[in-house]
Amino acid sequence: MATDRDSAVTAIFGDPVAHSLSPAMHNAAYAALGMNRTYVPFHVTQSNLAAALRAIPALGIVGVNLTVPHKEAAARIIKDLNGEARMLRAVNCVVNRRGTLQGDNTDARGLERDLRDLRCDLRGRLAIVIGAGGGAAASLLTCIRLGARVVIVNRTPGRAMALARRFAGKGAPRAAADSRGLDALMDPVLLSDARLIVNATPMGLTTPRFARLDYDSTAADCLFYDLIYSRDETAFLKPAVAAGRRASDGAGMLVNQGELAFKLFNRVAPPAGVMRAALFEVLGRSLPRL
Ligand code: NAP
Repeated sequence: MATDRDSAVTAIFGDPVAHSLSPAMHNAAYAALGMNRTYVPFHVTQSNLAAALRAIPALGIVGVNLTVPHKEAAARIIKDLNGEARMLRAVNCVVNRRGTLQGDNTDARGLERDLRDLRCDLRGRLAIVIGAGGGAAASLLTCIRLGARVVIVNRTPGRAMALARRFAGKGAPRAAADSRGLDALMDPVLLSDARLIVNATPMGLTTPRFARLDYDSTAADCLFYDLIYSRDETAFLKPAVAAGRRASDGAGMLVNQGELAFKLFNRVAPPAGVMRAALFEVLGRSLPRL
């Protein structure tokens, strides 16, 4: 849809940002709804984040998504955070409400919706979350909400421990999370108990291989979920599929967090399936329903 001087603007700030698939998803929804709005990627460096956030009300930008490396820094800058952004100490949605910036985080809810779509029932089961950054925190919150016990596995075990402690004190009704080093991914007793294993690290994207993981010891109903999404099967998921396990990349999470963000920005839900179809067209593959 063509933009004009009356078009309202929504945006994403990131560094890098050119690769972002969010503009394709959001603009497809605007076109489908016939809304005179547009979604624009802005390359914002770390040192410019505060100034870029201050410019949102001045420019009349309706809402902004934040991606790497801004989510945690924004949570320290924006005063008005909702409970989820405060708990995750990260913001991926900034909403301009009559000149006041409100910070929210739709990553955990996006993953939760995708796991429900995938019919991954975690009640009373074990989930293993690999990583201890922002994506891992969102995954941990989701798994706890879905009733799982969680073991956080990370290269730096101290960070995993800190994350587990943080949620035991705040988000979780009880101490629901434990922590281990990456060697836990070769522990057959732990692996055989897991209903879900989430990769919340860039391993396989920034490294040629994923960590050593004993796929054959996992339960037959174990779902492997990679927060990374790409055109091809990821390094984490490929051996899972070869071992006959269910596998999903993070494209569904991206769609769901995007749909939630769209509703926050525009106060109207995107038409069902439009953002997903736009994403999968860009990714050049069919919808991975399991
Ligand atoms: P982050 O905050 O930078 O955390 C990175 C984590 O990965 C840390 O725990 C780090 O371990 C670990 N790690 C990094 N490199 C490693 C390596 N070579 N070997 C072992 N561990 C390594 O990142 P994030 O924001 O959580 O994002 C993680 C991934 O999730 C990214 O690929 C991101 O694109 C993806 N993501 C996807 C969605 C979606 O919608 N699908 C949403 C959010 C994030 P240490 O603690 O030891 O440094």
